[in-house]
Amino acid sequence: MTMQEMVDQLNKWAYEYYVLDNPSVADTEYDALYDQLVLTEKQTGVVLADSPTRRVGGEPLKGFVQHRHLKRLYSLDKVQSFGELREWIDKVNKVLGEVDFTVELKYDGLTINVTYSKGKFEGASTRGNGTVGEDVTEQVKTIRTVPLSIPFDGVAELQGEGIMRLSVLDKYNVANPDEKLKNARNAAAGAIRNLNPKVTASRNLDVVFYSNGYEEGLPAKTQTQLVDFLKSCGMLTNYVFKKARTFEEIKQIIESIGQNRDKYDFLIDGVVIKVDDFALREDMGYTDKFPKWAVAYKFDAEQVTTTLNGVDWQVGRTGKLTPVGMLQPVELCGATIQRATLNNYGDILRKRVKVGGLVFIRRSNDVIPEIMSAADDNGTEVVKPQVCPACGCKLEEVGAHIYCPDAQHCRPQIVARIAHYCSKNACDIDGISEKTVQLLVDKLGVTSVADLYGLTEEQLLGLDGIKDKKANNIIKAVNDSKSVALPQFIFALGLDNVGTVTAKDLAVRFESVDGLSRATQEQLVAIDGVGDVVAEGILQYFREEQNVAIITRLKELGINPQYKNQTVTGVFSGKKVVLTGSLVNYTRGQAGKLIEEQGGELSATVSKSVNLVVAGEAAGSKLDKARALGIEIIDEQRFTDLLKQA
Ligand code: NAD
Repeated sequence: MTMQEMVDQLNKWAYEYYVLDNPSVADTEYDALYDQLVLTEKQTGVVLADSPTRRVGGEPLKGFVQHRHLKRLYSLDKVQSFGELREWIDKVNKVLGEVDFTVELKYDGLTINVTYSKGKFEGASTRGNGTVGEDVTEQVKTIRTVPLSIPFDGVAELQGEGIMRLSVLDKYNVANPDEKLKNARNAAAGAIRNLNPKVTASRNLDVVFYSNGYEEGLPAKTQTQLVDFLKSCGMLTNYVFKKARTFEEIKQIIESIGQNRDKYDFLIDGVVIKVDDFALREDMGYTDKFPKWAVAYKFDAEQVTTTLNGVDWQVGRTGKLTPVGMLQPVELCGATIQRATLNNYGDILRKRVKVGGLVFIRRSNDVIPEIMSAADDNGTEVVKPQVCPACGCKLEEVGAHIYCPDAQHCRPQIVARIAHYCSKNACDIDGISEKTVQLLVDKLGVTSVADLYGLTEEQLLGLDGIKDKKANNIIKAVNDSKSVALPQFIFALGLDNVGTVTAKDLAVRFESVDGLSRATQEQLVAIDGVGDVVAEGILQYFREEQNVAIITRLKELGINPQYKNQTVTGVFSGKKVVLTGSLVNYTRGQAGKLIEEQGGELSATVSKSVNLVVAGEAAGSKLDKARALGIEIIDEQRFTDLLKQA
């Protein structure tokens, strides 16, 4: 490759990554070519005018108003081994002598530059090319962790990372099953660089602040003071913030962060090490692209390539077929990956994925691995199936998706429907996993959720791996599920496109399944978040005789929850409560239900607006955060005592 070819290729990839938020190659591939270019530039002493080594990030998107930063924003130099890190520290020590460094997480999202003037939020922008970014004021205003006023009279540009928490991503995906977001980084970048601020708001992002740019009168002369200042402004700031002086100390901190990496509720792709003192930073200076006083230690890449051995078409709860890529086993983020999702047939074509060809795999923390794109042109085209691989029924195409229409007899559909009914956010029937459901269907002839209520302990004991205690627990859990609340019950029915949020809205609006079954198209679309497609799915569900028959049977069994539209008063009234750790006498679902029944509102994450944390055994970072924020914390015993007072 000539130098110009390298530059052209990198610029094309950078455009796809920064401007389109749609990378076509793995970061590792980009980084490898980038490093090669840096080396060539060093060896030849030539740096072409349009070399990416001169530039920071991408150009602003058309359609956005441009924002000229008051002071230039930089990227970060990176090291990928402790050897390189030691060299960097030696270099700093050579110029400055021994100094304090700060060690922070490197959040994987999108840089946001926020301007405050005379205590007020003035506007926000993306990093863009470092000098000019996109004005995303309206978008960022929707982010609750960006304060609109702060106790500071001067002018300052403060920078942070726009991120989507993994728990928020999960919740969003449960609530929007048909438009799942695959990756928290792209979801955050796509939400902020979206011309519709409502989309930004719907994604519930956060901004974690970590640096300052232009400033007049900022009361901080070091990174440590800056973090204190950010905190005093009510901003979210570094979750991990440590000070260290030597390579050994920094190495230890990085290793411990690396070990805990999967525990964070957001993506990180490394650790940032900075010189603490601002005045000393100026002595180090800047290159065209990054400050010489900071460096990013990047963790192992999260993308790899492997061969696609075949495609398995899996039939889901609604009959939809999802293609799953069967991979040549490959190590990624400490796990061996053998399967990864491909969303639908159109996705296969778009990604130009072929059987026998190489593909890029990406896995971000706890998100299932995904095939990003083809990595070469080898292989044979993936064949579109014509009949259901499970039951042989002729398939139907609806929009981008392929469906098996035989809901009643197709085994994977029956299994998935029952497993969904038993799942945590639905009827929360502990002990019935998808594996157990398979046994119930195959060995005991269970065909619908109503059959669960006729199961006996004797029947269960005849199944593989089910002993006395488990059989007893299952029967008890099935029985307990008869008192399921309406929102969970509607979700459990598994209506097409109805996630937990819509199920709750439907419960509030119609107050019973009977009420919902009589809903008209007009009434349905009048609900926020219910469009034509969701409404049609609901109407269609109640048109199908077998669904109505199951609901009738469940009603005869006494399962007919009603929703009372009144504010509940109880021992947790007016309290936002977080559950963390494991409780001995309650499942999470049961404890959550009790809290709601007693007027409390559940929250998945600890923030300043939370009033109470119920901490079970082995509670982790949520407990630490609650302590740091001074939130009331109670143990299981106290929780039980409070419930007794109810
Ligand atoms: P970067 O993302 O590696 O690092 C700089 C950024 O880190 C800063 O701008 C800031 O937003 C962020 N950051 C997070 N936590 C921080 C903290 N605590 N303190 C300071 N900053 C923090 O650099 P970049 O220039 O934005 O992106 C370069 C990387 O992007 C490449 O290494 C490559 O992996 C990827 N890339 C990929 C492609 C592709 O096609 N796959 C193309 C271009 C770039």
